[in-house]
Amino acid sequence: MASQTVLQKLEILADAAKYDASCASSGTSKKSSLGSEKGIGSTEGMGICHAYAPDGRCISLLKILLTNHCIFDCHYCVNRKSSNVQRARFTPQEVVDLTLAFYRRNYIEGLFLSSGIVKSSNHTMEQIVEVARILREEHDFRGYIHLKTIPEADAEIVHQAGLYADRVSINVELPTDAGLTRLAPDKDARQIEGAMGKVKDDLSEAKDAKKRFRHAPRFAPAGQSTQMIVGADAATDADIVGKASRLYDNFRLRRVYYSAFSPIPDASAVLPLKRPPLIREHRLYQSDWLMRFYGYKPGEVMQATEADGNLPLDIDPKLAWALKFREQFPIDVNRATKEQLLRVPGLGVKAVQKILASRRHRTLRLDDVAKLTLSITKVRPFIVTTDWRPVLLTDRADLRTMLAPKTEQLELFAA
Ligand code: SF4
Repeated sequence: MASQTVLQKLEILADAAKYDASCASSGTSKKSSLGSEKGIGSTEGMGICHAYAPDGRCISLLKILLTNHCIFDCHYCVNRKSSNVQRARFTPQEVVDLTLAFYRRNYIEGLFLSSGIVKSSNHTMEQIVEVARILREEHDFRGYIHLKTIPEADAEIVHQAGLYADRVSINVELPTDAGLTRLAPDKDARQIEGAMGKVKDDLSEAKDAKKRFRHAPRFAPAGQSTQMIVGADAATDADIVGKASRLYDNFRLRRVYYSAFSPIPDASAVLPLKRPPLIREHRLYQSDWLMRFYGYKPGEVMQATEADGNLPLDIDPKLAWALKFREQFPIDVNRATKEQLLRVPGLGVKAVQKILASRRHRTLRLDDVAKLTLSITKVRPFIVTTDWRPVLLTDRADLRTMLAPKTEQLELFAA
């Protein structure tokens, strides 16, 4: 290991970090950073990833592992102890130096740091915290820091991480406890949720303290997030939606990230041979938006699933729900409540806000609505305007076929 240069370590540990989705935007293409697209400008080249700051800005982060050595043996992980991959390990100072060098060149605006577990959970967590401490205390680093925390580590060390980081995350890994027991035998669902609960308490305490004392220490102001692997076990989308909803409710998470399981080199025999279609991950992100921004209850999103418990792949979950509950449509865009408008396939949150603002001054025609959506074809069966009424269109047996996208292209989430 001593013979590895920092650049060689970076190549190994940036590539090893690419399987963690919890700093990447859902639409980012997952190109291998070991291919021909190394370097600045590639989505993942040499560890640069894109994430969204709490204010919505897209920021570039150096996304690396402290080490890919690990004493755990999670079947789905390329870094598990039984995996035959090349190993590397940074010292905290090397991570600090890399972060500062990239930051000063304007390549990145922050750091996303995760790690395999070496020696013990506490030892590894201390090393992660040390990176953040040196950056903040010795270099007055003001950039964004996202630290992946280890649920098995002592709560006090995880707390230290929150004092330096903007965001902390703890991966729940799999949607069901049974899946976790089978695929990550060293992990414990109760321990993971216990650690998330402690971070939630720390976040609440820090918020209260801030109200009382202006100079109260900050604690992970960008909150906590988690990641679930999709398609490595038999969990259905209904299971995943239910789990995500409980996590949002119980731990006030900022985000749940969904990561389609991707077959890894030297894969364990208990894993599926094929990755699930990437569109499944996309549909789960859409269902997540329905719960967070469109007022759907988890049970309603589950109603959009098909007989096998999975969301349809050919249409988005909002359209799937509307097609199942056609008796609730069409709705009159000039009279409907905001909640009703948010249920119309093809109308996004911004379009609904514009409709509500416009109709204070005038009544809306179909053309007015068409200007607010990417596809008026998708909207028409579900609305009434002064000059449009869908008549029998809403109830047509072939409506799903008419509205399903004709190609496999991922549509931007417009509704
Ligand atoms: S703890 Fe599990 S998921 Fe994390 S690096 Fe080790 S083997 Fe991989």
